Amino acid sequence: MAESTDNLAAVLHGIDDLRMEQIPIPVPGPHQVLVRVHTVGICGSDVHYWTHGAIGNFVVREPMVVGHETSGVVAGVGSEVKDFQVGDRIAMEPGLPCKGCEHCKKGRYNLCADMKFFATPPINGTLARYVVHDSAFCYKWCSFVGTSVGVTSPLEPEKAVGRGDEGREDGRSRKFSSNSQIEEWEPFQVLRDFHELLIQPINGAFPLQNPSEDVILHRPHRLRGPRRLGQRPSLAPVGRLPDNVSFEDGSLLEPLSVAVHACRRANLQMGNRVLVLGAGPIGVLNMMTAKAAGAGRVIVTDLDDSRLALAKKLGADEVINVRNKRVVDIRAEIILAMGSEPDISIECTGAQPCVETAIMTTISGGVIVLVGLGASRIEIPIIESACREVDIRGIFRYVNCYPTALELVASGRIDLSGLTRAHYPLEQTLEAFKRTQKADVVKVFIQC
Ligand code: NAD
Ligand code: ZN
Repeated sequence: MAESTDNLAAVLHGIDDLRMEQIPIPVPGPHQVLVRVHTVGICGSDVHYWTHGAIGNFVVREPMVVGHETSGVVAGVGSEVKDFQVGDRIAMEPGLPCKGCEHCKKGRYNLCADMKFFATPPINGTLARYVVHDSAFCYKWCSFVGTSVGVTSPLEPEKAVGRGDEGREDGRSRKFSSNSQIEEWEPFQVLRDFHELLIQPINGAFPLQNPSEDVILHRPHRLRGPRRLGQRPSLAPVGRLPDNVSFEDGSLLEPLSVAVHACRRANLQMGNRVLVLGAGPIGVLNMMTAKAAGAGRVIVTDLDDSRLALAKKLGADEVINVRNKRVVDIRAEIILAMGSEPDISIECTGAQPCVETAIMTTISGGVIVLVGLGASRIEIPIIESACREVDIRGIFRYVNCYPTALELVASGRIDLSGLTRAHYPLEQTLEAFKRTQKADVVKVFIQC
């Protein structure tokens, strides 16, 4: 469990009133893990709560910790947690549904009315040093604990510094519990191979205590505790994942999952021509996901040239600045650039002209996915949608998308490294929020 009592958190007390405060380090319940938060990405919704105190019906009535795009390291596990161990690097899916309602049972838990979602009032978010979360909604992409391993230095093999125990007699994780040194070995980056993993500290953020520079993690065989019914298998077993999944990528799985869900709701097929309206973080990730899913031409529209330039750099086939243009002209420009009407339009602005453009431009029988959330009521050419059988589908967050998002990144199918970024320490959360408002980078990260 956590050794320190420091749990600095970014607590929103009301409009324009974000304070850095100490809060108690939470104790994980039986099915929860305690997470030492590493990186939190700032989302437009976090900033919106700060500037407006509410989003729709969700009103900040009492102090609330903000932040929900989270990655970190497991620092403790509850008594019933089987799949996670101290030291696992994880990404956290922010929502905890009830697991029992009709929607949850149908596998559409994002529609659960009892969803408890980080930083959606009154549920606290993750911009803190430590948080707890249900282990079923944590995803690891690097774990060398929980397998039977011996850690040795290749230079001085006799100086073995740790050895996992060989089983789970009590069904609980006891790996390395007898060897406190191993705690210092947690956050390594797995660099290669299946049986011999070269590991190294990440960014020097968690300095190696062991003096030897190169360390081989031997992984002679894999041990798994019995799986409970309905439990998802551990994702990303040791050694399968490359070193390209960083903590920042882990945080980005959150908005990436939105894009995965949007492409699924669009029923995107190979070769589909896709129009993405909006080149913010969500629009860009939708463009990249559509490409990764096999889309043909993907065209992105926005009002901002620099955002469009980045979208182009990141893989958009064509970008169109729609500022001061009429829908009829935008439609013609899109069709000219695409060579036809788009099969799918993914609306990522929430702006009325964009919804209208999507309806007017999408091919008859095509699909529009509404990702953007703008005004609650807008005027749209509904007859166009009805008579040309252009389906309009909403999406709400994501459901069962984190594993896919993780695999897309881990496999290199989606490369997030081109997204422009800014970084702030937890103490400078306010500055980070102001930077997010400037919107000069795709993502602002806070290191906790
Ligand atoms: P963002 O504000 O960073 O990006 C929106 C982009 O749309 C900007 O680049 C802006 O220039 C562009 N835009 C605005 N009006 C436009 C217009 N008339 N024509 C063309 N472009 C226009 O936001 P984001 O973080 O990328 O999120 C996009 C939207 O997705 C937001 O509305 C957000 O609330 C929504 N969202 C929805 C879900 C969901 O579950 N449905 C999840 C996450 C985000
Ligand atoms: Zn439910």
